[in-house]
Amino acid sequence: MAAQTEESDCSREQTKAEQDVDQVRQRATRDQQRLDSGAVTSPKDLENLQREIASLAKRQGDLEDVVLEVMERRESAQERVAELTERVGAVQGKIDDATARRDAAVEDLDGETASVTKEREVIAGSVPDDLLKLYDKLRQQQGGVGAAKLYQRSCQGCRQELAITELSEIRSTAPDTVVRCENCRRILVRTADSGL
Ligand SMILES: [Zn+2]
Repeated sequence: MAAQTEESDCSREQTKAEQDVDQVRQRATRDQQRLDSGAVTSPKDLENLQREIASLAKRQGDLEDVVLEVMERRESAQERVAELTERVGAVQGKIDDATARRDAAVEDLDGETASVTKEREVIAGSVPDDLLKLYDKLRQQQGGVGAAKLYQRSCQGCRQELAITELSEIRSTAPDTVVRCENCRRILVRTADSGL
């Protein structure tokens, strides 16, 4: 935006400088016509007129230099605008690409959430009400994990190894009885890898 502002400032400056050159040129042309017409006869007036024409020529040259200098500045501002526009385009391309990938990922996650939710509903439907209530309560208290696997004598919820007495107690408990971790109180799920 700054480069575009600089470019349009230069453009205005150039127009103004060109108008200045035009004014001087027109005045010089008028003076030259008066001189050529022969209407001015007094030597003093003629001398003044010639001096003015010379000074206008010098002034015109100076003003033309100003125009050239402004044009150069404008040209580099234009180059800068073009370069930055290209970079904006490249960055926008990256943004578009990242946005598209994010949207696709969100869509995947939504699909996964829907199927996992469905799956959970089916499983929850097969769990007795009081057990489900206990599980939900524990899940809320224990950062989203209400039940944990008992793996190689450790609770996978709190990562604590169970005491020998606790293990032997679990060993003697019927497989369909709900057992809990002494430490974190989560429901312990027994498997072949429990180390019992
Ligand atoms: Zn535990």
